[in-house]
Parts: sequence; structure tokens; C-alpha cells
Amino acid sequence: MTEDACPHCGGALRYLEKDTSSGREYREYRCMKCEKYVTLGGDTALWKILHDANEEVDANRREIETNILPSDTR
Ligand SMILES: [Zn+2]
Repeated sequence: MTEDACPHCGGALRYLEKDTSSGREYREYRCMKCEKYVTLGGDTALWKILHDANEEVDANRREIETNILPSDTR
């Protein structure tokens, strides 16, 4: 995958690893020509998107459950 070229020399980048620990997805590359490390990305990481989506589903479900609760609390 050669989606990006080295910003330093324009050489081909070799994919190293992905860091999503901060909730954002950064991909680390190393230039095969000048051997500098290049970090690309900054998109929201997939696990963060899924996590947020799950929270939204939970919130919706809670709302539905509240609405269908029997109102006859004797
Ligand atoms: Zn380079």
C-alpha cells in the first residue's frame, strides 16, 4: 500500500504500525529512502467510532425501556 509518499524526500513509505491508543488512528511509516519516520492519520480510530455508536444504541434502548415501562406503580 503506497498511499502516501515521504514528506521529506518523496520516497516510498513502508507501513510499520497503527497507534489508536489516544482514540485517534495514527499510522506510522518509515521512509525506505531517507529512513525517516513518518506518522500519518489523525482520523478517529475505528474502536472509538464503534464505542461511541454502542453508547448511542444503549441510550436509545434505555429511552425505549423507559417508554414501555408500566405506569401502574401501585
Ligand atoms: Zn524520505
